[in-house]
Amino acid sequence: MKKRFGVSIEESLAKTLEVLSNQTGVNRSRLIEEAIKGYLEDHSHLLVPHDCKGILVAHCPGTGQLTEVTEEYRDIIVAWLHAHLNDECMEAFFVEGASTKIRGLYSEILRKGCRGRYIPVGNIPS
Ligand SMILES: [Zn+2]
Ligand SMILES: [Zn+2]
Repeated sequence: MKKRFGVSIEESLAKTLEVLSNQTGVNRSRLIEEAIKGYLEDHSHLLVPHDCKGILVAHCPGTGQLTEVTEEYRDIIVAWLHAHLNDECMEAFFVEGASTKIRGLYSEILRKGCRGRYIPVGNIPS
């Protein structure tokens, strides 16, 4: 059973979607469905409380934004990669611990004006 609803997206995003759809031969509805599914799967790890592990990737417009945050979340950060590309920070946090704490780190990354992406390892929590 499919539910139909209207959404508004950026024109450039719509164009990119169109190109991807043409090149892969997969229709737009299906591509959007896959994208939403992936997004919700990843975020369910941050929403449902459980013990979690994964990689949290951050990209900041500038340097030093996450220094304090990294210190604050030391107990869940198992390993950490930090590089500067064109004077911008790229960080990869390998995390393990309570998903609520991981969500805290993720929220802090966004609050500092950085982009963040959590790649959980393991099954979707329920
Ligand atoms: Zn998880
Ligand atoms: Zn840096």
